[in-house]
Amino acid sequence: MLTISPISAFDDNYIWMFHAPDSRDVFVVDPGDPTPVEEALKHYKLSLAGILITHHHVDHTGGINVLTKGRNIPVYGPDNENIAGITHTVRDNDTIELSGCQFRIMTTPGHTLDHIAYFTESGESGNPALFCGDTLFVGGCGRLFEGTAEQMFQSLSRLAELPGNTAIYCAHEYTQANLQFAQAVEPHNQMLQKQIQQVRAFRAENLPTVPSTIEQELATNPFLRSNQPEVIQAASNRDSSSNASPVDVLRVIRAWKDNF
Ligand code: ZN
Ligand code: FE
Repeated sequence: MLTISPISAFDDNYIWMFHAPDSRDVFVVDPGDPTPVEEALKHYKLSLAGILITHHHVDHTGGINVLTKGRNIPVYGPDNENIAGITHTVRDNDTIELSGCQFRIMTTPGHTLDHIAYFTESGESGNPALFCGDTLFVGGCGRLFEGTAEQMFQSLSRLAELPGNTAIYCAHEYTQANLQFAQAVEPHNQMLQKQIQQVRAFRAENLPTVPSTIEQELATNPFLRSNQPEVIQAASNRDSSSNASPVDVLRVIRAWKDNF
């Protein structure tokens, strides 16, 4: 079991911090900025035990150098020589033990080619937890900077098969913009209307809308719903060349979102 909390960074990044409830040794996921991490460690009297990296973008890796200076700690990350400071390269289906919990590595190419996610069956309150960087967002998915729609579809499909109560710890607070787009795709999705109200209330209090759950995402995230009739219809209205396959629907709505 883990205690998991967000550290806000830049405009809309979350650096997730976790530890065993009875321990002051913490891990951070995707520390793009070292400063708020050092502040949190000091404020809560915690000690940094290691770093997890999901992909090479600097808003996720920028703090590695400073945070590892004078600390002999492991830095887990994907097999990408362009990320300076990784001490432990991890691959698909590897398992690592952190804070007394087993984590499984899942490769999730699409946003970048090196992208990975970290899954544990025993996160906050004993529910499963997924640290998925910029692959799956609340109500959305990462832009296709390096990978193809086919790769993103495969990656999201894998995540969609995780237990419904898996908490989704993504790396950005993009929820409101994502749900606005989701509503354009699926104007008749009742669950989506409900979520939009809830998210509006959270953001009015400046509270994080993350984590979500796999179950919630399956009900409202258009990028996990490219086999649903209303999503297929929206894609073919948008791009008449769409062949209506789930991959092609994802391709069309991802391109639509890029210009939304
Ligand atoms: Zn990124
Ligand atoms: Fe990012």
